[in-house]
Amino acid sequence: MEITKHLLFNLALIMILLFIGLIWFERKRNLTISKWEALLGCIVLLFVCITFSFKPSPSFHFDLRLIPVIIGGLYLGIGPFVSIAVIISRAIYGIDLGLFATTLLYLPLAFILWRLYPWFWKQNSNKRVYIAVLLTFLLSVITVAAMQVFTPPVSLFDAWFAYSLVPALGIAILSYLFEFVRKNLLLRQTALKSEKLQAVEQMGAAISHEIRNPLTAAMGFVQLLMSNTLPRHKQKEYLLIIKEELASAERVIQDYLTFSKPALETVETLQIKRELQQVISILRPTANQHSVEVITYFSLIGSIEGDRQKFHQCFINVMKNAIEAMPGGGRLFVETTYDRSDVTIVIRDTGVGMTKEQIERLGEPYYSTKGAKGTGLGMMVVYSIVKAMNGTIRVKSTVGEGTEFTFQFPSVLSINEPHA
Ligand code: ADP
Ligand code: MG
Repeated sequence: MEITKHLLFNLALIMILLFIGLIWFERKRNLTISKWEALLGCIVLLFVCITFSFKPSPSFHFDLRLIPVIIGGLYLGIGPFVSIAVIISRAIYGIDLGLFATTLLYLPLAFILWRLYPWFWKQNSNKRVYIAVLLTFLLSVITVAAMQVFTPPVSLFDAWFAYSLVPALGIAILSYLFEFVRKNLLLRQTALKSEKLQAVEQMGAAISHEIRNPLTAAMGFVQLLMSNTLPRHKQKEYLLIIKEELASAERVIQDYLTFSKPALETVETLQIKRELQQVISILRPTANQHSVEVITYFSLIGSIEGDRQKFHQCFINVMKNAIEAMPGGGRLFVETTYDRSDVTIVIRDTGVGMTKEQIERLGEPYYSTKGAKGTGLGMMVVYSIVKAMNGTIRVKSTVGEGTEFTFQFPSVLSINEPHA
């Protein structure tokens, strides 16, 4: 059973190589194979098959070179090239009867594979496996029959047994594997697509809602302003409201932009006291509206490195959540401490607090307990900004008592600071 043994050994080698190829393919970013890569793969397989073939006489080589040809021809559409590669590589071993037989078999095969390829891919997955196996079986039978005509192989039974079993078995395994990988790949792509679509949908809904509300409100006040009978102080008040509404619409857009591109743009040294004071002044009207008293304890110095606009955005989001957590009013504490290595910022409220489960989900995109009023993006943006600034966040919260956020950023020395 020398021939069977050798063919099985060939098959084992092909499997090993294809397994390595599969790993390479898995790690590839675009998950496609170019014709050149396919051809190279098939030539490597051919080379291995021919190197480890069984050669009872110098002009006869028993091996599985049929497998790369079939796979290349039916699955990769490069049948003619692989067939020609077979003939060339066989010619390298000598111009003899074997080469003649090889050419006689592989030249028509090249043509058949070339014509078969488009039709093959119109069949369904199961049919493709059957077709590949059947074609291989037929070709193997032709191969042994042809061998018998030229010179009878060493053992007739062995040759027939090996050729009717091993190539077809190999192709069955390989084409099944191919179909399996292909199905998985398609599945993965559709999953990815639907996930993306879902994100876009949610985003669209949230954006239109979140931006439309302040715009509608602003429009209403503009309408009021257009009547000339308003007293001067009313006009001023309305203009302030309009400004606030537009600013809130702008913040939503900013959150979405940061959501899609969290990298810091301009890095500069930020004096946290000054920056936090600015943030508080932006939120002052909202705090007043909710009867929230803002209490601050700032350390005299303390600077960090970061993007000013993103830093503002981050703390606006945190403080806005704190204010929104105190619908009946309350106190918002903003404290900073400073040491050589870190700057610590604590934002504490006396609001509704969070359960353990809520804390765990904090920062998840679109996680909000505020129903139609929330976007569930605020904390996500906070986490991504803090991460980009090499900071950390700790959350402590008790339902009904309040929430405390502790931020820590690496501190830097600033020359502009007052010396303590
Ligand atoms: P949104 O404010 O749009 O709901 P966020 O990402 O800003 O989205 O916040 C997510 C959720 O985290 C909020 O819906 C709220 O349940 C919870 N949360 C955040 N900060 C606080 C806080 N200070 N107190 C209580 N709950 C909070
Ligand atoms: Mg929020």
